[in-house]
Amino acid sequence: MKTTLVQPIYRLLLIAVGLLLLTTCARNPVTGKKQVMLMSEQQEIALGAQSDPQVLAEFGPYNNAAMQQFINEKGQKMVAVSHRANLPFQFKIVDSPVVNAFALPGGYVYFTRGIMAHFNDEAQFAGVLGHEIGHVTARHSANQYTKQILGQGLLIGGLVFIKGFDQLAEAASSGLQLLFLKFGREDESQSDMLGVEYSTKIGYDAHHMASFFTTLDRLSGNPEDRIPTFLSTHPDPLDRNKKVEELAKEWQAKYPGQQFAINRDQYLRMIDGLVYGEDPQQGFVENGIFYAPNLKFQYPVPADWQVQNSPQQVAMAPKDGKAMIILNLGQGQTLDEAAQATLTEYKLTAVSSKPITVGGFQALSVVADPAVDPNVPANQQQQQAIRLEITLIQFQNMIIRFLGVSALADFNTYLPSFQFTARNFRTLSDPDKLNRKPEFIRIVTVPRNATLGATLQGFNMPTDRQEELAVLNGMQLTDMVTQGMLIKVLGNLKPSTK
Ligand SMILES: [Zn+2]
Repeated sequence: MKTTLVQPIYRLLLIAVGLLLLTTCARNPVTGKKQVMLMSEQQEIALGAQSDPQVLAEFGPYNNAAMQQFINEKGQKMVAVSHRANLPFQFKIVDSPVVNAFALPGGYVYFTRGIMAHFNDEAQFAGVLGHEIGHVTARHSANQYTKQILGQGLLIGGLVFIKGFDQLAEAASSGLQLLFLKFGREDESQSDMLGVEYSTKIGYDAHHMASFFTTLDRLSGNPEDRIPTFLSTHPDPLDRNKKVEELAKEWQAKYPGQQFAINRDQYLRMIDGLVYGEDPQQGFVENGIFYAPNLKFQYPVPADWQVQNSPQQVAMAPKDGKAMIILNLGQGQTLDEAAQATLTEYKLTAVSSKPITVGGFQALSVVADPAVDPNVPANQQQQQAIRLEITLIQFQNMIIRFLGVSALADFNTYLPSFQFTARNFRTLSDPDKLNRKPEFIRIVTVPRNATLGATLQGFNMPTDRQEELAVLNGMQLTDMVTQGMLIKVLGNLKPSTK
């Protein structure tokens, strides 16, 4: 986590719903057919512009000027040949290990560093880029956004039990789940088609887009949570693969004699030094303890609770979603100021408040209930029967804030978990945890003809990670690699030139 304050997405969603009430009928830019659009183009752009800061707050941008420039350059080139060349598209790489790419209405397109690590050439990248641009040009995003918001109301899956306290629920489940839109099969097929068309039009070999589906398919079998959303609606990736191969052939036939670019070496050289997997400096869980090396603290996570770490907060919840703990920073200079700010922010009334010591630091434990709103009818007040245990800790020049929340009826069940986590907060001083470095993609030259497996061994890659590296390289371990060819390995040192 960084010192960014939580900006509730709730407000944004209200604005969105407000916008959606204005129905318009417009021509679909891709199909040319008239279609009921719940959003005008201006509204679409406004929605994307409002959501963009949320996406960046959630993941943070990936700090690599060359890669950001690359995605923007290719993106703009593709937009120019697309069905909506007039839209002010923006392309960003975000700092997440998850393998994903997604687009928001209005032309906001994001690729994670995780997906960038898994492409093996520019042509694969271009295919996925075209696919995402396709969701925007065919107005899938706009329509889907409409459907999902109207369909779900403002309730977020998993944490909906806290009705009447949506703000905190939103913060915890990071309303961004809404932004990871799931498209239907037809939309995905159409985007695949557009991906082939757009990438071919800017000169890339769209057959390689199909080969990347194989990588995605292999990743989806990974126990780690790296399943890309844009694979999830496609139960049959082989079928998708075949279709894209056929489309690529058709599109290439329209440009007889043209050589289509793959640019494998250029791509690999560009991603040399890319962070791979979780970045432990941003926080990691090991043996039930959450470590935050960048802020130098640690605390235990209740057994079997799930942890969701983002730059602005850490959210923890048991699998049944009946409680949660959020860790973020309190506002104000003193514990009392932070307590008051918290009560105001979430419209709470303190039930009790007592000074305590946590990990040698001054702290304040506050139990609070939602304030009774005289404007809300009595029968709806019922919904707000929740209780919070708030722990504020004066740590260095910050105030660490733990918010434990559950239904009032469950509060005594979860209070021990809330206290276990917040009251075992400590300074992190273990150098092994403090100095934990991420792994980096390293691009190396194959010294002699051999199988990929043997070559990886030659670069001292551990045996239990060979399969992972084969997927990363888009190959099988038994595939032959030839002298002088570039491949990906993993290392703990960043290349000195980057
Ligand atoms: Zn898609």
